[in-house]
Order: sequence, then C-alpha cells, then structure tokens
Amino acid sequence: MEKKKVGIFSFSGCSGEQLMILDCEAQLLDIFSDLEIKTFPMAQSNNRYSELDIALLEGSITTQHQKEELQEIRKASKVLIAMGTCACFGGVQSMLLGKGGWKDRFMKVYENNEGLYREMAAFESQPCSAFVKVDHLIPGCPMDKDQFLHTLSHVLHNTKPHLYPFPVCTECKWKENDCLLNRGLPCLGPLTRGGCGAICPSHNLPCVGCWGPAETPNTTSEFKLLLEKGYSREEIIRKFRNFGGAVIADRLRKILDKIK
Ligand code: SF4
Ligand code: SF4
Repeated sequence: MEKKKVGIFSFSGCSGEQLMILDCEAQLLDIFSDLEIKTFPMAQSNNRYSELDIALLEGSITTQHQKEELQEIRKASKVLIAMGTCACFGGVQSMLLGKGGWKDRFMKVYENNEGLYREMAAFESQPCSAFVKVDHLIPGCPMDKDQFLHTLSHVLHNTKPHLYPFPVCTECKWKENDCLLNRGLPCLGPLTRGGCGAICPSHNLPCVGCWGPAETPNTTSEFKLLLEKGYSREEIIRKFRNFGGAVIADRLRKILDKIK
C-alpha cells in the first residue's frame, strides 16, 4: 500500500504540538515507518513537499507571509488538521487586550519602529480557519497525545474522529470533584472545551480555559455568576479573553451591554 504523505507545519506558537508528537514514544516508529513524513521542522532537516494527503498545523497566523504559506499548504493538501489552541482559536497571542488597536500595541513594544511594522506585515493573531478551510480541530495547550493519535488514525482510515463536544465541567463531574465555583473561585470550566480530563480543577486549580472556547456555552450565565462572586467586569473580561481569542471577544461584544 502506498504510504500517505504527511506534512507537519509550525506557525506562531511554542511548538508544543510538535513536541507532543515526538512524545508519542510507543507509536513514533509506526508513525515514521508507515507514513511518509515530508515535513517536520523539529525532527528532520529536509522539509520539502509538493502534494500531501494530510497537513498538520500548529501555531496561529500572525503575518502576511504565514497567511500565504498557509494558503499554499491548503492547496497542496487533501486534509488539513489544526493542532493546539493557537492553530484552532488563535491562542494567548490573540487575547485582544490592551489599549488601542493591534498596531498601537505593536508600536509600544517595538518603540514606534514603523519600518519593522511594514517589513513584518504582521497583524492581530488569527486561527488557521480565518484564512483556509480546516477539516479537523485537535484543541489543547498542548493537544492531548491520545486525541492526536485518535484523529490521525481516523483520518488515515477515512472515518470521522470524535473529540469531546462537551465542556471541561462534564469531565470534572465524572471525577466527582467539588465545584470550585461554589468556593468562589473563577473556574472557566463551563466555557471551555473538554478533553484535558479536567486536570486543573482535579487539583483544586480553577480552569483558565487553555483548551479554547466550548461550542455552545452559556457565557452570560457565567459572567453574571462571577459578578455575584465579587469579581469586577474588567477581571472577568480579562479571564475570559485569556485563551478565548476572537471567538470569546465576539461573544462578549454580543452580551456585555445586556449585563448590568
Ligand atoms: S470546578 Fe470548574 S470545571 Fe469543575 S464543575 Fe466547577 S466550574 Fe466546572
Ligand atoms: S482544566 Fe482548563 S486550564 Fe486546565 S488543562 Fe483543562 S482546559 Fe486547560
């Protein structure tokens, strides 16, 4: 059987997904021997490709150059999979905080270097889906090894992967944890995609939302609850935006003027 051609690509992020793939120790030999790995910047130096069966992308898109590269990868690939919260939702770099627009913040950090701003052609961080069709998401910061292997295996067999459609709270309840919200802690489990095994609340730490926004959470309800617990509007907005990127910013825009 002809080996499937796979490309692994990295944009703006911490390279945690590449590291997680390399950490699949028991399966790594199979991955490298049964697939034709065309690109994998962290693991090999020859990274050329023309056509791919599967492209796996990590990191968010933050420059014009990355956007064009992403569009080339999409054209060359049959299936495109976004790995990790940055590629899926924009990551912490898309938290849209601070005064002014993105250019104002860039100028503050780079001391008004207009030349660098033009040369980098950089923009507010975006998920891959802002520019191309993404076939599958594997959220997580970093993604979970089992969910990566599950998704890759299903895609290779032309079947549909099934990741968790519910929020972190569901996994937290499976573990019979006491809810941290009852103790007044600002847990974002109700707003956050499941899949991590509710690891933080299981250790008495509130979820900060690192797996990205859940699909249909009740954002208004959690906002009101945290107000009742004594948190200020600014504190709540900051927490919600930490890993929520443009998705949460958009949800907040729709609800904020209705919440007193
Ligand atoms: S502790 Fe957090 S994750 Fe667990 S049930 Fe409460 S809100 Fe949900
Ligand atoms: S509980 Fe929340 S912050 Fe902790 S790993 Fe899971 S999604 Fe991330």
